Amino acid sequence: MKTDTLLDAVVVGGGPAGLAAGTHLSRAGRSALLLERGSLGGQARGLERIENYPGFPGGISGARLMELWLRQAERWGLAVRAGEVVSLARGADGVFTVRLKKGRAVRSRSVLWCAGAGFLKLGVPGERRLLGKGVWNTYDEAPSCAGKSVAVIGSGEAAVQQAAILARKAKTVYLITRTPALKAHNLLLERLAGSGVVRLPGFRVSKIVGGKKLEAVELKPAAGRGQTKKIKTDALFTLIGKEPPGVPAAWLSKPAGFFEAGDCCSGRFRQVAVAGGDGIRAAMRCMIYLEDL
Ligand SMILES: Cc1cc2nc3c(=O)[nH]c(=O)nc-3n(C[C@H](O)[C@H](O)[C@H](O)COP(=O)(O)OP(=O)(O)OC[C@H]3O[C@@H](n4cnc5c(N)ncnc54)[C@H](O)[C@@H]3O)c2cc1C
Repeated sequence: MKTDTLLDAVVVGGGPAGLAAGTHLSRAGRSALLLERGSLGGQARGLERIENYPGFPGGISGARLMELWLRQAERWGLAVRAGEVVSLARGADGVFTVRLKKGRAVRSRSVLWCAGAGFLKLGVPGERRLLGKGVWNTYDEAPSCAGKSVAVIGSGEAAVQQAAILARKAKTVYLITRTPALKAHNLLLERLAGSGVVRLPGFRVSKIVGGKKLEAVELKPAAGRGQTKKIKTDALFTLIGKEPPGVPAAWLSKPAGFFEAGDCCSGRFRQVAVAGGDGIRAAMRCMIYLEDL
């Protein structure tokens, strides 16, 4: 597809929401271009096993599921390009200019923003410097932790699931939480209970220590009183809640022709099937918009 022509739709993000949206638009005969700054398949690609995606009684790996979605997108001719979208603007004629970090801008009648949501940062000393050097703000580094001492911080499903998965191969896994309560469903809690994960409730990370790579994590009592604790660890996964990236546009309100789908707008309902369905709904809305133009 020529990207210097006016497109019907630009889809930003190649996770489940973006792939579903783009496939739907292409199958309907719309000229759609999907732009992805990282790995196609988004967060879902890194999931070791998805057990709650309908249609796969034994579960399916995230990589395999996303490969199937991508094949379907290609089958219907969705154009896919690597690129990070850094700004969006909408002209008086209703045409969007989608600027990429590298390369030329793309022009389109509509934009589907499917950029997902990233994990929040802790905001403690050492975090920024050691990000990617033992400190992970994502969860798909688990395979590199075999035989190591690792720590997970967070009390939600992502943290609980990650701790239980890591415990299968890591030497020691610490789960650090501010409060004793975990916000995960029973199946995950049962897996955690039998996993050998060492729980450290009532602590917050106050400092991340290391030179060229992570060496230790300093913990302080979440309540404010008590002794500081230091644990040696090779990896720290900070899975403490998610925040969608801001839309890179100077709009006061979302304009006509701009649609959002998936984790970036689904609040607490962050699942592959939800993101895919949301992507399709956004594509359907977009098609009505394009027909009305
Ligand atoms: C630890 C963990 C376990 C999970 N377990 C399950 C599970 O068991 N079952 C389940 O159904 N779901 C699970 N999920 C949730 C599921 O992975 C997400 O809900 C789903 O991937 C969301 O899809 P999405 O397309 O909205 O966003 P994402 O998958 O995050 O994809 C967004 C994509 O947009 C790209 N992007 C962002 N900004 C830009 C930009 N400016 N330019 C270009 N590209 C951009 C990103 O690189 C990314 O690839 C889990 C998530 C985590 C973190």
